Amino acid sequence: MAKILIVEDEVAINHLIRKNLELVGHTCVCVFDGDAVFDALDKEVFDLILLDVMLPGMDGFQVMKGLGQKIPVIFLTARGATSDRIKGLNLGADDYLVKPFDMLELQARVTSVLRRTQKQDVMFKLGEVEVDFNSRLVYLNDEIIDFTPQEFSLIEILIKNRNIALSRERLLEGAWGFDYLGDTRTVDVHIHGIRKKLGWEDVIKTVYKLGYRLEVKK
Ligand code: CA
Repeated sequence: MAKILIVEDEVAINHLIRKNLELVGHTCVCVFDGDAVFDALDKEVFDLILLDVMLPGMDGFQVMKGLGQKIPVIFLTARGATSDRIKGLNLGADDYLVKPFDMLELQARVTSVLRRTQKQDVMFKLGEVEVDFNSRLVYLNDEIIDFTPQEFSLIEILIKNRNIALSRERLLEGAWGFDYLGDTRTVDVHIHGIRKKLGWEDVIKTVYKLGYRLEVKK
């Protein structure tokens, strides 16, 4: 998971972004003007900056030019300001989001930029369970637990989207592929098996009328 600096002068939006990114496991620091970016960068190392263009004091473009180090940046731009988007990308931004944006889109863009720029987590640990994404092996108390490729894919999707409710359809597509003709009840059967093998009855929550969520308490 990543450390993200949020630069946005509208306090409510800034906090909403933080809340949504923290929900999926990122750590965030919020600042509200351009100058504060440099103080934050002096104190800590970030994996990504979400940078509003219209800011009091230095604007987002000036901040971008002043970044001495290469940090991935997603610009937050006002609706319709095409020239802002082009300018941002020309300055080396990795992506931009047009306000108002939906939080799922924000999470998706953040994940996609981090995937390109950051080494992904290769291990996941929760209690006595360890998941190695490279070897696709799952350990319980240091012993390998056998899973089918589909079960492993379900575990992987749930972990990578931890604390987010995922529909049965999405899990089915993710683990079996778009053209799989199976029934969403297949997902229920496999989730039941995973819970049983790992003692995850309380970790994989059933989301009423939707699907499942892997719950990791912070
Ligand atoms: Ca602003």
